[in-house]
Amino acid sequence: MKTVTTATGIDCKHFINGRYMDSINNKTFSNTNPATEDVLGTVAEGGKEEINLAVTSARRALNGRWKTMPLTERSQILRKVGDLILERKDELARLESLDTGKPIWLSSSIDIPRAAYNFHFFADYMTTMGTEAYQHDDLAINYSVRKPVGVVGLINPWNLPLLLLTWKLAPCLAAGNTAVMKPAEWTPMTATILAEICKEAGVPDGVVNVVHGFGPDSAGAALTEHPDVDAITFTGETSTGTAIMKAAANSLKKLSYELGGKNPNIIFADSDLDEVLETTIKSSFINQGQVCLCGSRIYVERPAYDEFVEKFVAKTKELVIGDPFDEKTKVGAMIGKEHYERVLSYLDLAREEGGKIEIGGGRPEGFDKGYFIQPTIITGLDRNTRCVREEIFGPVVTVIPFDLEDEVVAQVNESHYGLSASIWTNDLRRAHRVANEIEAGIIWVNTWFLRDLRTPFGGMKQSGIGREGGMHSFEFYSELKNICIKL
Ligand code: NAD
Repeated sequence: MKTVTTATGIDCKHFINGRYMDSINNKTFSNTNPATEDVLGTVAEGGKEEINLAVTSARRALNGRWKTMPLTERSQILRKVGDLILERKDELARLESLDTGKPIWLSSSIDIPRAAYNFHFFADYMTTMGTEAYQHDDLAINYSVRKPVGVVGLINPWNLPLLLLTWKLAPCLAAGNTAVMKPAEWTPMTATILAEICKEAGVPDGVVNVVHGFGPDSAGAALTEHPDVDAITFTGETSTGTAIMKAAANSLKKLSYELGGKNPNIIFADSDLDEVLETTIKSSFINQGQVCLCGSRIYVERPAYDEFVEKFVAKTKELVIGDPFDEKTKVGAMIGKEHYERVLSYLDLAREEGGKIEIGGGRPEGFDKGYFIQPTIITGLDRNTRCVREEIFGPVVTVIPFDLEDEVVAQVNESHYGLSASIWTNDLRRAHRVANEIEAGIIWVNTWFLRDLRTPFGGMKQSGIGREGGMHSFEFYSELKNICIKL
C-alpha cells in the first residue's frame, strides 16, 4: 500500500476587526486532507451574524485611517504583505498542499510566490496610475478621480486558494476599499494566515476581514445579500454565479465574475510537436486538471493526430501520482469526496457516450485512502457529447481530430464557455486569424499560462463578467468621478 504523508493543519477562526474570533454560537466544521482523509482541524462556521459583524467593521474602517492614508504608505503596506508571504512561504505552501491535495512543488513554485507577487505587483502599479483629463476649448476642463467602491465581498474557490484570494485582495486594497473575504469551505487555512499577515504589515483593523463558512444559507449567501456590501468579486462555478447575481440584485451590487471554462487547445500539424506535448501535459493535468484555464478539449489537425495521441499517452504514463509531499509527485489528490465522485461519474459517462479511454480512466491502484484519479485521455467522442461540452474540472481531457481551420473554429465556438484557448501553429497569419475568431477572453499562441499581470484576464460568454489585471482591476475596484470646471 502506498504511504501518504500525514500532518495536522491549523484550526481556522474568523478574522474580524483585527482579531481572530469563534462563531457567535461556537459552530464549527471539520477540514479534511483530501490525500489522506484525515482531519486537519476545525473551522469556525459563519453565517449572517458573523457577516454582519465583518461588514460593520469593514464599513467603519473605510472611513478611518485607511481613507486618509497617503498613497505611498498604502503601497508600502501592500509591499510588506508580499514580503511577509515570502517569509512564510514554506509554511503557507505546506498548508496549501495539505488543504488541497496539490503537489508541494506546485504550491512552493507557483501558488505562494504568485500570491506574494500579486501584492508586489499592485503595490507598484497603484503608484504609477493616472486618470483622464480633457480641455473643452476655452470653456471648461474635465478631469476624473478614482474613489474606492466601498466594502467589497470576495468569494473564492478552492483550486488556487491563496493565489486567487490575493489576486482580488491586493487590487481591492490598492484602490482603497475594505474587504470581507469568504474563502472556499474546503481550503480555509492560507486565508486565515493571510489575515494576520495583513495586520502585521500594517493594514488597519477592520480593513481585511475573513468569515469562514459555506455558500447557500451560510456565510457566502449572507455576504451577497448584505445591503451594506457595495460590490462582490466572485471566482467559482458558473451556476454559483447565477445564484449570486440573483442575491445581489436587490441591492444592485457591482459584480465581477471569473467563472468556469472548457478551454480548447487547437494543434495544427505544422507546430513543433515536442513543444506542444511538453505544454499540453501541463495544461491538461497540472493541479489534477483543477485550474480554470486547463485545456480540456484538445483538437489536433488530422495529419498530426495519430503521432500526437501516441506520444501524449506515453508522456502521461510517466506522471507520478501520489503523496503531495513527495517531490517526485506530479499528480496529487482531488479536492474532496464529492468532486472526486463527480469526476469519476464523467469517466463512466465517457464510456457510455462511446469514448475510448486511451490511458487512465479511474482510481489508481495501491491507495486505500485519498481522492486520487488517474490522468485520463479520451478519444472517439462526438462533438455533442456531454464529456466534450461540460466542464469536468479534473485530470480528464478529450482529443478530437479536425481537417479544416473553419471547422475547428466552429466546434470551439459551440461552447457556452469562453475563458481561454491555446493555438499551436508556426503559420503567423493563421495564428492571427484563428486567435481573432475564437470566442474567448484569453488566447495563447504556442504557449499556455504565460501571464503578465498588466493584461486583461477574464472570460466571455458564461465564463465571466469583467476583466481583472492591471488597470482592469482598478476599473472594478474603483468608481470614476468626473469633475468639470468652467474656465
Ligand atoms: P463554487 O462556485 O462551488 O464555490 C466558489 C465559492 O462560492 C466558495 O467559496 C463557495 O462557498 C461559494 N458559494 C457557493 N454557493 C454560493 C452562494 N449561493 N452564494 C454565495 N457564495 C456561494 O466553485 P468551486 O467548486 O469552489 O471552484 C471551481 C470552479 O471555479 C470551476 O468552475 C472553475 O472553472 C472556476 N474557476 C474559475 C476561475 C476563473 O478565473 N475564471 C478560476 C478558478 C476557478
